[in-house]
Amino acid sequence: MSSAKPLIAGNWKMHKTCEESAATASELAKLVRGVSGRDVLIAPPFTSLTTVRDAISGSGIALAAQNLHWETKGAFTGEISAPMLVSAGCTHVIIGHSERRLYFHETDETVNRKVKAAQAAGLIPIVCIGETEEQRETGKTFNVLDKQIRNGLEGLDLNDADALVIAYEPVWAIGTGKTATSSQAQEVHAFVRSIAGEMFGKTLVQGMRILYGGSVKPSNIAELMAMEDIDGALVGGASLDAETFAGIVKY
Ligand code: PEP
Repeated sequence: MSSAKPLIAGNWKMHKTCEESAATASELAKLVRGVSGRDVLIAPPFTSLTTVRDAISGSGIALAAQNLHWETKGAFTGEISAPMLVSAGCTHVIIGHSERRLYFHETDETVNRKVKAAQAAGLIPIVCIGETEEQRETGKTFNVLDKQIRNGLEGLDLNDADALVIAYEPVWAIGTGKTATSSQAQEVHAFVRSIAGEMFGKTLVQGMRILYGGSVKPSNIAELMAMEDIDGALVGGASLDAETFAGIVKY
């Protein structure tokens, strides 16, 4: 059971130039002006972070990066550190998205390092977990998630429910048009909250946001948000268009 304020987050992945990002972010800021009772966040590509920061300034929309490196600086060509993200205006960072696990060999161990680096810099990590279709079909869902949570968040010191967001994103539902049913998602979210409760305290995790991600659209968001352990959504494809994303925000 959750008491958290909903968060609707858009992950633009590797989409949009700086100009396209500015246009979408400005349009979104206009469309969600005055919306209350929920928080809104967008995660553009690194190259658009400062452009989007300026476009959403004063709108209440938060800015996230899609990844970071765990070191603060050094000879790591092509990488971006947590302090760099803070200086670009980010308050949040997505960590361990399934595409990063699949294509860039991220593991629970690298997720753990990144989560700690984010926390040390004052960024709120949005930690993604989720099972593949094969894992679900062979009854391994809860085992897989248990490991991802315990190993990915191991050693994390959490005193504030707002300092961590978990996104449950079944891999088979990402970008496929297949969505977990609201009761399938609720079942997992309650499980995630119970594991997080064992790690960080039951009372604390009642206020922690657990987002659902996987083909969320304006037509299915309300049903998902009606579930008692679903505190928001991480939206990929449907966040690229400002009007569609605003439709989700205003579910
Ligand atoms: C995502 O990439 O986090 C995601 C949920 O994508 P989509 O909404 O496109 O399924």
